[in-house]
Amino acid sequence: MIGSFRLQRRVDLDANATTDVSRRVRRVMARVLRRHHGNPSGAYADARSAAAILEEARESVAAAIGADAEEVQFTGCATEANNQVLQYLAGLPETQRGGRILSTPIEHPSIMHTLEHLGAQGTKVEMVPVDAFGRVDMSELEERLAGGASLLCCMLANNEIGTIQNVREVAAMARRHDVPVLCDCVQALGKIPVDVHALDVDYATFSAHKLHGPKGIGALYVRRGAEVGPLLHGGRQEGAMRAGTEAVHDIAGFGEACRAVPALLAQKDAMTARRDGLLAELRGIRPDLVLNSHSDDCLPNTLSVRFPGQSNTQLMASLDMRGIAVSAGSACSTSENVPSHVLTAIGLSEEEARETIRISLSHRTSHRDLRYLSRTLRDHFSGRLPTIPLVPPSRVDEAYLRSDDHYLLDVRFEVERKLARSLPGSHLASVISFARYVHAIPKDKRILVVCSTGVDATPIAYALHKRGYRNVAILLGGLVAWKLQHSELDRRLAGMPVSRIERR
Ligand code: PLP
Repeated sequence: MIGSFRLQRRVDLDANATTDVSRRVRRVMARVLRRHHGNPSGAYADARSAAAILEEARESVAAAIGADAEEVQFTGCATEANNQVLQYLAGLPETQRGGRILSTPIEHPSIMHTLEHLGAQGTKVEMVPVDAFGRVDMSELEERLAGGASLLCCMLANNEIGTIQNVREVAAMARRHDVPVLCDCVQALGKIPVDVHALDVDYATFSAHKLHGPKGIGALYVRRGAEVGPLLHGGRQEGAMRAGTEAVHDIAGFGEACRAVPALLAQKDAMTARRDGLLAELRGIRPDLVLNSHSDDCLPNTLSVRFPGQSNTQLMASLDMRGIAVSAGSACSTSENVPSHVLTAIGLSEEEARETIRISLSHRTSHRDLRYLSRTLRDHFSGRLPTIPLVPPSRVDEAYLRSDDHYLLDVRFEVERKLARSLPGSHLASVISFARYVHAIPKDKRILVVCSTGVDATPIAYALHKRGYRNVAILLGGLVAWKLQHSELDRRLAGMPVSRIERR
């Protein structure tokens, strides 16, 4: 429930963003929280039992990824694991391993943004081109490796388009040139077999929440003999590689999630069939649909599709109102309102990128869920669903803001308001208490619902539409996009009052 309106049904087709925590994982975590509160670094019985839980989990993660337990280090998340490797190697003197880092241009933001940061500090960063499906150009790679590098970043499976790289071949080539490889395996684990020894990479990173484990726990594989140092300094936890008292319950949850990997992999063919069936359905609805993903070298659960002429924001809003979650790109970059770097790297224009949605199935996605998605898309494309207009930020200029016809409804959370000032003249309301303020919203005005990115505004706009408000629109890209275009106006009108809507 949000306020007084109930979403019909929830169908989560955004499994590459995250997955729900499985019952077995929850049970294990609850047991650890209840019974094992000891600090694993201590020298008494409770500490030893907590330490034993860590080591059991380490063995389970190692078994799932084809590593030895001593090669696995727990981290706060995969983002941290990627940072640890990148920052360590970039920090070495050039004569050792510092200096030039090579990467594919379709890596996750936890690599791309870290490389940007390191680039600004003087590390040379070079992107190796990819083809129209995101696969590394091997002859270009050979050429760049020949120039020497301190590291090559090449993910095993892409989070947005599902592309599976031939990492074994990439790593063999890198090995011939004595360049270590960091392989982000976050999306691969549980969906396709992962064997880090067979891949022969030096570093690999993982995250529990992509395979029905808890959020906020990751793992870093470091090949025996490969160099790495700590990112966090302090205590000597994790072999002095990651200071900070271990989150024993999260680590136990990660271990349990990894125990289910063989069962998850056993569903690979069934999942591929379900996804391909969905694609056939979608082609029936929109024969002009364009598939961005490769038909074979792709994760079994991922579909990146483009509907020409259809704004993905609008489509996601329509699906969201029917309780269906899909995404436009990686969850980590949705809030930035920029076209996906992955889609532009494989050759899509910005406009084409904004027509793309990612549908990612989880192991729990049923045929019924997919039928519901197809039915909803059919309704959307045949005009049977109401569409709420999206107002581009460029239209919301000074005249728009000063007009008495417009009513700006800012539905951001309090914490978001602290981060960015509201548009001048806004009426502030909360996204979660709709029923208590809706009475105060005038029916005779043109209402523009505003949030940080355009996502939270959607359910409110549809709820108003349901209550008979016919003149409702959403600020496309939210305040983030508006402030990018109107920084001068934002500064100039900063003092204009905003008002808080009285709740009943
Ligand atoms: N790498 C990839 C490919 C991902 O998809 C993600 C999560 O979206 C990450 C890294 C970051 O994982 P975490 O959320 O554990 O930081």
